Amino acid sequence: MTEIHDVLVLGAGMVGASAALEARRRGLSTVLVDRRGAGEETSYGNAGVVDGGNLYPVAMPRDLPSLFKHALNRQAASHYHPSALPRVAGWMFDYWRWSAPDKLEETARVMRPFFAEAVASHREFAKLAGAERYFRQDGWLELYRTQQSLDGQARRQRLAREYGLRSVTLSKGETLELEPHLKGNFAGAIWQQDADTVSSPGGVTKAYAEAFVAAGGRFAKGDAMTLAKVPEGFAVETADGRILARQVVVALGIWSADLIAKFGYSVPLTAKRGYHRHYQPKGNAFLTRQVCDEDVGYCLCPMEQGIRLTTGIEIAMPDAPKTPVQLERALRAAGDLFDLGEPVEAEPWMGRRPATPDSRPVIGAAPRHEGLWFAFGHGHWGFTLGPATAKALLAAMAGEAPRIDLKPYRIERFG
Ligand SMILES: Cc1cc2nc3c(=O)[nH]c(=O)nc-3n(C[C@H](O)[C@H](O)[C@H](O)COP(=O)(O)OP(=O)(O)OC[C@H]3O[C@@H](n4cnc5c(N)ncnc54)[C@H](O)[C@@H]3O)c2cc1C
Repeated sequence: MTEIHDVLVLGAGMVGASAALEARRRGLSTVLVDRRGAGEETSYGNAGVVDGGNLYPVAMPRDLPSLFKHALNRQAASHYHPSALPRVAGWMFDYWRWSAPDKLEETARVMRPFFAEAVASHREFAKLAGAERYFRQDGWLELYRTQQSLDGQARRQRLAREYGLRSVTLSKGETLELEPHLKGNFAGAIWQQDADTVSSPGGVTKAYAEAFVAAGGRFAKGDAMTLAKVPEGFAVETADGRILARQVVVALGIWSADLIAKFGYSVPLTAKRGYHRHYQPKGNAFLTRQVCDEDVGYCLCPMEQGIRLTTGIEIAMPDAPKTPVQLERALRAAGDLFDLGEPVEAEPWMGRRPATPDSRPVIGAAPRHEGLWFAFGHGHWGFTLGPATAKALLAAMAGEAPRIDLKPYRIERFG
């Protein structure tokens, strides 16, 4: 007789790998399914910041001069494919609405319990997975080129103080004491100390998936789009045959919308695409933590492969051809601050942040299908929030009152 598993997790990015590990930790018979290996899509190529101190979501500018600058499509921070605009216009309007200062503060307050658990949850999972070697526990730097933009963070810094976050404003000299190989003209930085950074986001995700298998879980290659409702619960076709489970977690990142549409659910999910490429540092230059150039809109991330230069947002259809123009612009700007040498890879990498217009993930039960659960849409912060999401979700699936109220994350909020 075919075994009926307790839980089937679809998608082995940071969110799905964490959900599978947490399910196994709870003793549930669990299968993790992906069409690729674990951590080979968006969770591979991000900036590797576990940002426990995160407050405001990444917002769309609302003043006319900034909007005009972005509309010209020559920024490093943003880029768009004009052909995508008719398809994403409604989403962009909602994103613009949710980028108002009061809305940003509301989201910061709603999301705070999740971010507050992020670092501890990662450290717990990293210990289980023997992945501690990837983690650095000394925060990251938001670097500001002008005093005006550093001063522009005053409102968020007041909120940080209210929450007791260790978000420390540094002069240029103090910044150089932490990162002596930065150079050029900048005003200072904010040292976000309630954060860890990692040297291989893909390595961490794989380690969590491997820990799940080592704990008795099963990983299978398969196409999540074959998911079907069956009398026993749910079934999915894999290379190892058909897998049955009573409950299923959809953690397919940007691809989640396509799958849940098959079950009659619609969700406003847009790909905020982003690029990276690794560079050898020149000479003996090094960085000890992630540094983001906030005025230009890119990050320099010390990784196993070299210094990973990551870009801001590209609005485009998820599978449209790569247009890594932001990477070229970021590379030129990065030369002001750090000595980058030769690129490591021939081609830039591209990934897709699964983004909702209100910058909150979708976590919780599907309203019309018992046993179907959602965990996607983490946008800019899915690497940070994977383990904390997994813990809250598996508690809800077990019928426990989760420590984090999941009401604000229900799919029903989109109508
Ligand atoms: C440039 C950049 C920088 C970033 N920096 C950070 C950062 O510093 N910190 C942070 O917290 N976040 C960061 N992010 C965001 C973060 O990477 C994402 O939010 C996160 O990786 C999303 O994880 P996920 O598990 O939801 O999706 P994914 O990692 O995309 O995983 C989805 C999985 O589903 C699988 N899948 C899809 N379709 C199917 C199918 N039909 N059948 C089977 N499997 C399927 C895929 O193969 C994939 O493994 C960044 C993103 C980018 C692009």
